[in-house]
Formats: sequence, structure tokens, C-alpha cells
Amino acid sequence: MSGYTPVRAARGNTRTAPGWIQEAAKRMLMNNLDSEVAERPEELIVYGGRGKAARNWEAYHTIVRTLDRLKNHETLLVQSGKAVAVLETHALAPRVLIANSNLVPHWANWEEFDRLDRAGLMMYGQMTAGSWIYIGTQGVLQETYETFLGAARKYFNGSLKGTITLTAGLGGMGGAQPLAVKLAGGVSICIEVDRNRIERRIATRYLDEVASSLEDAIVRACAARDQGCSLSIGVQGNAAELLPQVVRIGFVPDIITDQTSAHDPLYGYRPVAKEDEDLEMQRRTQPERYLERVRANIAQHVQSILELQRRGSICFDYGNNLRAQAKIAGVLDAFDYPGFVPAFIRDSFCEGRGPFRWVALSGDPADIAATDAALLELFPEDARLNQWLPWAGEHVAFQGLPARICWLGYRERDRAGLLFNQMVRDGRLKAPIVIGRDHLDAGSVASPYRETEAMLDGSDAVSDWALLNFATGIASGAGWMSFHHGGGVGMGYSQHAGLVAVADGSDEADERLRLCLKNDPAMGVIRHADAGYVKAKTVAAERGLDMPSLSGNPA
Ligand code: NAD
Repeated sequence: MSGYTPVRAARGNTRTAPGWIQEAAKRMLMNNLDSEVAERPEELIVYGGRGKAARNWEAYHTIVRTLDRLKNHETLLVQSGKAVAVLETHALAPRVLIANSNLVPHWANWEEFDRLDRAGLMMYGQMTAGSWIYIGTQGVLQETYETFLGAARKYFNGSLKGTITLTAGLGGMGGAQPLAVKLAGGVSICIEVDRNRIERRIATRYLDEVASSLEDAIVRACAARDQGCSLSIGVQGNAAELLPQVVRIGFVPDIITDQTSAHDPLYGYRPVAKEDEDLEMQRRTQPERYLERVRANIAQHVQSILELQRRGSICFDYGNNLRAQAKIAGVLDAFDYPGFVPAFIRDSFCEGRGPFRWVALSGDPADIAATDAALLELFPEDARLNQWLPWAGEHVAFQGLPARICWLGYRERDRAGLLFNQMVRDGRLKAPIVIGRDHLDAGSVASPYRETEAMLDGSDAVSDWALLNFATGIASGAGWMSFHHGGGVGMGYSQHAGLVAVADGSDEADERLRLCLKNDPAMGVIRHADAGYVKAKTVAAERGLDMPSLSGNPA
């Protein structure tokens, strides 16, 4: 693609922008596009099908230049990956406001998006690609682990030891699956159509080995399972071909899921094709025919999952909208298996618990090690954290700037943020820390086939909550905020907000972090308490959340 030269963010505690938030936004945009981090940096594609960090290379350079001159009482507006204005605001306002891929609901579909994308008027921001807080595959590792652990707790006495998980998709996020299953004690077989992706996961230690065929993968998996070992095995192939083959062979995995980019049938899910076939040509010249092929393949894929469920596999959808695409293709019972949020994650959301991530702008892994140790001291009673952080420190290879993820809830994230700010102030850390989260969080997203599937009060599609979250972050001093459409599950299916803050050791950062890292997870508790979840109501009452419409809650 024209204009590409490799990108790498600066390291250290000298900035060229007028303030640390601007400097952090610039470095995080660059880090998203670092070739160690992004899946296809030359096309500005970070992860999740075609999730981009900027609209095109010219737009990227303009954003970088503007951040380098953006003053501490100004705010940059970014519309679908393009800098459109600098406004005078005030010192505690966000330095950047981002809106990506938003369409008026009646037009909120891939056809309209593609038309605008081709005309150069939009880009697909996914979740953390267009909001500049992607940290590589680690970004979903703990969530993926929590999900598989949730399955282990519900069905396998708390551990995946002695079980085999079958999944597909070893992309930016899906690549976390093999390591997460391993951490939960299990064996996995991971189908991936693209050999390069398999090799990338091996190079970054997310995947252990590659089998020569599906049969070989099953033999290796069964041997590891029988010895009680944890192991991850990649196998090259198309899920739409290999899943039906699993059915024919008569092998019944214990768990089945999928993280191919099925949310984007035109660009994300690869149809079955001959090795020398020019798929790109058909996609360009006959998109309707191409989509028919994709949907027919997704139908075979999901029919196989349903058949294996009937034979005893535990099946769940992993947030890529595979079931909805299958239903469009005529698989009427596609939703007979649940999404991962109602199955395993909702309880955490009721506590405002979700993915909290941070990045060391020093570029020094020792800063992440220091924050890991400090968090363990801050939350000694959190058993999951005490298992997770030491394990992550030992096993997770950094991509780009050193970063960490862990799940924290309401009244935990603000404490962590203030602690990091103190560590920057007193020199325990060598440079500021960027703190953010996925849009996949407790109170930031409306996505009826994913985060808000099967809400207790039926409010799955209400997106007021995501908008309130966006507004709350702005009112509470976030460094930059974003509002997106279509992340995770594709156009028409989701709306969501992202928040990033910066700990630069200043008193101003204390004020921003205290408020935004308290109020942001509060939205998760509020959203779930309002929907009637008893756990969320209890958390709201116990942790002093003022919810006037909840009777009996301290106001
Ligand atoms: P990605 O585009 O980086 O990777 C998708 C991978 O699937 C690619 O490596 C591709 O080669 C492979 N693939 C495509 N079609 C295939 C087929 N038919 N058979 C086998 N392999 C195939 O995307 P990603 O960032 O890994 O995200 C994957 C999906 O998961 C997306 O739909 C994304 O929105 C969703 N997602 C879910 C969560 C979550 O809920 N936990 C989090 C992030 C992303």
C-alpha cells in the first residue's frame, strides 16, 4: 500500500508533544501499527479482520503531526481515522475524541459501510484498533483464559486438564486461545487457514506445535490428554472443511468454539478455495457470488458445531457473530449454543470487572515487572490476579511497547491507576504509563449477540448505555475517548465506547485517574443493576454507588 514505511513508537521519558497525553496518543497509534503488533501494518490493519488505526497513510501522518503540536487546552477530533479539527477546550478535557464507523441505524450494514470505505469516507475501527490501545494478542489473553476457566468451572471441576478444545482462527485475538486453554490445563487443536498466522503464534509463544493434518492433530491431542499434559496444536486448513471432517471421523472434542473473523463475511472469513484460486479477484468482481460461498461455508461450519454439540461437546460462540451469519445462510437453529458472555462472563460484568490494560512508555519491560509486583501487593486477596500476574510475567512475550492486562472491577481500577501515577511520580517507573481497556467491557458496549446477549430484562439492544459510558469518560477526565460501531460482531450488531488515561506522575493525572477509572467501571455495575442482576445491585449497595432508582440503595 502506498505511503508505508515501518512504524515504531518512541521509547523513554522525553516527549516531543506539548503534553504526555498527546505524546501517549501518538505513541499508542504508532505502537498499534508496529509490525510486531499489527497483523497487516502496511494496510494499517491492526487486528479483527480489517480493524484499522487510521484511514490511510496520509491521514496517519496528519494525526501524528497534529498530536505533536496539540496544546494542553485543545482537543483533536478524529472521524473514522482522519484528523478533522482541533478545538479549544480546557485543561481537564480529553485531548482526543474519536468516532469510528458510526452509521445511522437504518444504514448500519456492511454494504453501506463498504460504499463509504471505497469512497475514502470511513474506516472500520474494530474496538482497540481505531482507538489506539491495542497491545497485541495479550490484550484478550486473560479474558480468553477467564472464559475457558469459566467453562472448566461449569463443566469440568475447575480445570481443563484431561480435555481437548477444538477451535479455529489464530489471528490477532484468536491467537490467544491456545495459550489460554493451556493455562487452564487443557489441550487444544487450532485450525487456521493461513500458514503465516500459525508461524506468528509459534514465534510469539502462543502456540506450541503444528500438526501435518487433522488426523495427526487428533492423535497428538489425545496422547497429551491421556498423559494429563497441557499442549496446543495448530493445523492448517479451512474450518468449513475440517469441522465436517471431525464429524465424519467421529471424534468428539470436549469444548468447541471459533474465532475466525466471521463478523466480516466479505473480508474476514475465508471460503474454501483451491490453493491457486484468485479469491481477491472474485471478491472484487463478483462480491455477491463470493458472499454466497462464504455463507455456505459458514453454514457447514456451524452445522458441524451443532452436530458435535448433539454428540456431547460443550459449544459456545466466541464473539465473532458466526451464529448470525449461519442463520442468514439458513441454519435456523444456529443460536442453539450460547455466546460466551452469558455462559461464563456476566458475573464479572456485574462487579464492573473487565479488561484493564496498561503500557510502559519507557519501553522497558522492568517497568511492567514493577507494576505487576505493585498490583500483587495492592490486591493480595485476589486469588485470580495472584495466579494470573506471575504466570503472565513468565509466559507472555511482549509485542511492541511492554504492556500488561488483568481483570479489575469497580473501585479497583482507580486504586491501580493512582498507584501507577505515584510510581511514575516517585521514580519507581522510568516514564509515564498508559492505562486503557478493551471496548469489550462491563458497561461500555451494546452488542446483543455478545456482551449484552440475553440480558435479564431483555434490554440487549439498548445502546443508551454505551453512549452514557462515552459521555461519562469525557466528563471524568479521560485522556482520550472513542465511540465505535460494529466492533467484534460487525456492522449493525454493536455500538461501544473506549477509554484511555495517562499516568504521568502529575497532580492533574491524579484527578483524572481518580474520576475516570472509578466512573468507567461503575457503568458496568449500573448497567447490570438496572437490568435486575442481584449481584450488581449488591455490589452497587456495598461499594456506595448512588443509584436513585434502586430502592433501598443508599443515596
Ligand atoms: P483476525 O482477522 O486477526 O484473525 C482471524 C483469523 O481467522 C485469520 O488468521 C484468518 O486467516 C482465520 N480464518 C478466516 N477464515 C477462516 C476459515 N474459514 N478457517 C480457518 N481460519 C480462518 O481476527 P482476530 O483479531 O483474531 O478476531 C477474530 C474474531 O474474533 C473477530 O470476529 C473478532 O471480532 C472476534 N473477537 C472476539 C473477541 C472476544 O469476544 N473475545 C475479542 C476480539 C475479537
